[in-house]
Amino acid sequence: MIRYRIIKKIKYKILIRLSLHLRILRNLVYYILKIKFMAKNILIITDLDGTLLNFKNFEYKSILPFINTLTSKGVEIVLCSSKCYQEIIQINNGLNLISPFIVENGSAIYFPKKTFLKRPANSTEKDNYWEIVLGTPRDEISKKIRSNTFKKYLKYVLFLKNMTKLQQAYYTGLKSDALDVTLERNFSEPLIWMGTNKELINFKKELNEESMDLNTGARLLHLTGLNTKGDALKELLQFLNILNYFNNSDEIVTIACGDSENDISMMEISDYAVVVRLPDKKNITLKRTVNVFNSKNVAPIGWRESLEEIDIIREIIK
Ligand SMILES: [Mg+2]
Repeated sequence: MIRYRIIKKIKYKILIRLSLHLRILRNLVYYILKIKFMAKNILIITDLDGTLLNFKNFEYKSILPFINTLTSKGVEIVLCSSKCYQEIIQINNGLNLISPFIVENGSAIYFPKKTFLKRPANSTEKDNYWEIVLGTPRDEISKKIRSNTFKKYLKYVLFLKNMTKLQQAYYTGLKSDALDVTLERNFSEPLIWMGTNKELINFKKELNEESMDLNTGARLLHLTGLNTKGDALKELLQFLNILNYFNNSDEIVTIACGDSENDISMMEISDYAVVVRLPDKKNITLKRTVNVFNSKNVAPIGWRESLEEIDIIREIIK
């Protein structure tokens, strides 16, 4: 009888322990699932040339249905390019986007008045947008670059604005109307470099000392202030949080897409990074290794292909 009671007690204890372990396991599974599937606000910040637009012919219409699906599911798509204000407005309209956008390598953010009824702090009015300037005005850049310090480098520089129409078309891949628009810049000077790499490194170093920088895009170098696309992303997120843009308290998950060196700053700080392959070029390499998606195809298909591999995107488009 006593032996029977002892066995019963042991069995009881084992059962209690087992149920405790099961409860812990259940809570753990619940927690993992909650993290994976909890509501998220997804923000895709993307470069244009070579990333969303085909490098050679700037085509993007083939992925319009995918973009429409993303926006219809509440995904915010923010264009962030070395292109200027008018150029990005045209593409934003072509993509049916009414999101904020970032111009000239992080030089300024534009919030459409249609969606941002209240003026964001420190912004000024420009056409149908609120403008936040982060970069250096073009006049100031032009003045600085003409100083004696840079005389020795300027013989290796050919500015886009000083090229013949034929050269401009060759180096940008743009046709005449689009060329006129791309020259209407406010914060940068596109150029090509004809010196050695060593001289370029020295040029960049001296530019940095004068609060300027050279950003490498898919085709050209861009002389700007010290602003980067990464800085602009940080600013944008701060504004979206302050303005409670997503109208909820869920976290904002960021996916940054790019193909060139000037995209790295935003791709290192985003939650996910999409590296789109450029034709005949080695993919850019990031310091980070987690949540990096390299496309096999070039733009625009490569853009869609890599985004479709990301779990949170797969989840909402299935
Ligand atoms: Mg690019």
